[in-house]
Amino acid sequence: MTWKCPKCGRVFSRRDQAHYCVKPQTVDEYINAQDEAVQPRLRELRAIIQQALPDAEEYIAWSMPTYRKGNNLIHFAAAKQHIGLYAGEDAVNTFAEELNGYDVRKGTIRLPYDRALPAELLTRIAVWCRDAYGR
Ligand SMILES: [Zn+2]
Repeated sequence: MTWKCPKCGRVFSRRDQAHYCVKPQTVDEYINAQDEAVQPRLRELRAIIQQALPDAEEYIAWSMPTYRKGNNLIHFAAAKQHIGLYAGEDAVNTFAEELNGYDVRKGTIRLPYDRALPAELLTRIAVWCRDAYGR
């Protein structure tokens, strides 16, 4: 079981873990607030999304790194064992076959830290989200 602080979005193994709680205002602050061990992976995912969506604006929404172009397109969040990539129900249905082998639930793709990021697939998913949700 993990616990996610509702204020800053950090994930801990113990509920109500005492910590230096600051709500991140930027994606840099968000990534820097996570476990050092997972920061490189978060930066890697961020770079994949930024490359796929060069015209999207990056900001924090619902305590998560978020990319928007008119509307919110895609979010991600660090968890204990994985990064949750929030692409939406329609996106995960569209890519269901290629996401076979990943834990997918409620429009979220779980990208485990012990597995390399499928950069090419994630790029296509991000572009799909822009085309479907953006304006
Ligand atoms: Zn907190």
